[in-house]
Order: sequence, then structure tokens, then C-alpha cells
Amino acid sequence: MDAVLAQPVLVLNRLWQAVNVVGARRAFSLVAREHAQIVHLTDDDYRTFSMMDWIDFSISNPPLDEMETVHTIRHRIRIPRVILLTMFDKLPRKELKLTRNNVFDRDKNRCQYCGHAFERTELNLDHVIPRHYGGKTTWENVVCSCIKCNTRKANRLPHEAAMRLIRKPLRPKWRPVISLVVGKPGSEHWKDFLDLAYWNVELGED
Ligand SMILES: [Zn+2]
Repeated sequence: MDAVLAQPVLVLNRLWQAVNVVGARRAFSLVAREHAQIVHLTDDDYRTFSMMDWIDFSISNPPLDEMETVHTIRHRIRIPRVILLTMFDKLPRKELKLTRNNVFDRDKNRCQYCGHAFERTELNLDHVIPRHYGGKTTWENVVCSCIKCNTRKANRLPHEAAMRLIRKPLRPKWRPVISLVVGKPGSEHWKDFLDLAYWNVELGED
């Protein structure tokens, strides 16, 4: 039961853009509270289902695979693969954690001073405003830096070391949904929406 309810479900916003992935348990709870509808491909077209419609649909169209259903006292309900939010901002966006790897991802393994790409083992994190100047460990103040530039800058402000950032460090808006879903089981059901997400993804400055 737990494995069944942990299966990933793609979440679309009201514009049918992929914005998140949640477990089936959370998906059911969003649908039951009418914060989302289930999206299912029937006869070459995507239809949306409320919880009651979905229960009826599950009864008249039982799936072959046990992993495709959850048993309740009265019914076997199909596990949804995709849900569509019916309200704005009911689902908290996944905040991207400020980690070494995520900063390297954001900066694409490029030293933000000299602009060259390096292996991660040859990169440091640099506080643009050094900590002893009161610089915080935030997305806006931490960048990827090569060891040479890091040594040159030392504990100075960039302009004191006659250095410039190649771009202003920003907090990423949210984790691109593509990176959440690659290789997840069930993602073949999401192809249409992920293709759409690919074309609609906000592009960086470069
Ligand atoms: Zn460098």
C-alpha cells in the first residue's frame, strides 16, 4: 500500500504546465479537497476527473496491474499519473536548497570571476561580500569560484581585488521540473506535458 501511494504523480498548474512531482497520497488529498483534478488520456484526448468521477472511472476501467490501484474499503481506485491544480499556489513550490552542488549547478561549474568551467573538485564557493564584512551565506552572495580566483580575491570585496562577477548571483526561481522527473517510473505517462515544460521553461541569461 505504501509503495503504491508513494508513486510519483506529475502536477500541472492551471496553464497545464508541469510544476512539480508529488506522491500519489498527496495527489489524492489535493483531488479530494478539490484543489486539483485528475488528468487522464482517454481516446486520444486528455480528460479531467473529480474524485467522484475518478472512482466511477476506476470501477468501469479497472487496470491490469495491482500497482495501478489503491484499495479502499469499497473500491479499487486507480492511481493517477497527472493532476491539474484548480487553484493558484495551493502547492508550495519546492525551494531549492542552498547546497554546494546546487550552486555549482546554477553557475554551470563556471568560475563566476574568470568565467572558465572546471571540475567540481577544482571549484570553491566564494562569498562575494566576505563573511567578515557581514556577507551572508545566501543565493545572492555565494558563487562558484576557481581556486586561483578564490586565492586572488582572498578576503576582499571584488572591486578591492579588481575582480568582477560575470553575472549577478540570484536565487533560482524553482527547481526545473525536468530534473525532478528524469528516470522516475511512470514518467512515460508525462511525456506530453514534459515536452510542453521543455518549451516553456524559463531560460537563463546566457
Ligand atoms: Zn576563476
